[in-house]
Amino acid sequence: MSTPTRKKVLVFRELPPDQLARLQAQHDVTVANPRLPGQLPAFEAALATAEGMIGSSYPIGEALLARAPQLQVISSVSVGVDNYALGALAARGIVLCHTPGVLTETTADTIFSLIMATSRRLVELASHVREGRWSRNIGEDLFGWDVHGKTLGILGFGRIGQAVARRAALGFGMPVLYHCRRPVDLATTSPELAGKATRTTLDELLQRADIVAAVLPLSAETRGLMGEREFGLMKPGAIFINGARGAIVHEGALLHALDHGTLRAAGLDVFATEPLPLDSPLRTHPKVTALPHIGSATFETRHAMAVLATSNLLQALAGERPDAVFNLETAAI
Ligand code: NAP
Repeated sequence: MSTPTRKKVLVFRELPPDQLARLQAQHDVTVANPRLPGQLPAFEAALATAEGMIGSSYPIGEALLARAPQLQVISSVSVGVDNYALGALAARGIVLCHTPGVLTETTADTIFSLIMATSRRLVELASHVREGRWSRNIGEDLFGWDVHGKTLGILGFGRIGQAVARRAALGFGMPVLYHCRRPVDLATTSPELAGKATRTTLDELLQRADIVAAVLPLSAETRGLMGEREFGLMKPGAIFINGARGAIVHEGALLHALDHGTLRAAGLDVFATEPLPLDSPLRTHPKVTALPHIGSATFETRHAMAVLATSNLLQALAGERPDAVFNLETAAI
């Protein structure tokens, strides 16, 4: 029996030890996270021979791909693939894998946490207690806004959007509106939502929803989707939640809507620039609940993502079709 060939693998964001060991058992692995101090040179050197890459949260553009002439597969430890130059990958038949499904429920939990936190002013009121300002029963100035019964509008109605809708419709009695390009066959994907979720145009959703939650991929079409016009269409006193990608929002327009419009609050897990710059007005804005991109960040889910991404990479390097390929139509498998 011939020994399978060991290939060169570049791990560009830390993997849990058990998954790193799976890779090291079969391949020659370099771990170099270009975002960490001092590791960029090792990352750049490893590109020259890398046949497989695994990681997340780093832009892999055309120029970087040109420096990786041996590359056959990138396994992203994320479901979103906006960091990758899809055209350049397609031109070379490079396989792009991702981690759909395993993070769906956790990300929906995060988005629902932001709905609760913004509506009931949880962070602000917890600080009120922590800072010793709870000296009398709170008055109207600190009251929140009911979540149950409010109309929730969801931008993007795929795996995560539908998981948010289940929490809202089944747990909180919220009518759900959603916007996406193609009709969704709820009887197949989420039968429990039949009759509880209605597809609308973007404008109708913005005009009717009390809470708007974005959970669609960042693409050329969705970049800047929420701008001045869109925030202006939202109901007076409505809340905006972003659990997708920062760049789908024009952050200047959001700030304007918070300061000069009638937006009640915004709950943001993602930002145009991450980590959020210290001088960003969104960081300390009294109407904003900002999280450090934690959509999928639980022990269980991050591990499940690493397992799926590692399996994807091992399968692709073995010449098999990986469990979760994003660009099947252009991948050389
Ligand atoms: P998915 O199952 O592919 O769902 C994406 C949804 O967006 C689909 O309903 C799709 O429907 C819709 N969509 C795509 N382009 C659109 C457009 N131009 N206009 C309107 N709707 C559009 O993906 P998912 O697993 O739910 O993940 C969604 C996104 O969430 C990811 O791409 C990622 O960026 C983000 N995410 C964030 C975190 C976090 O940490 N905050 C974690 C996980 C995922 P149509 O194709 O019919 O339009």
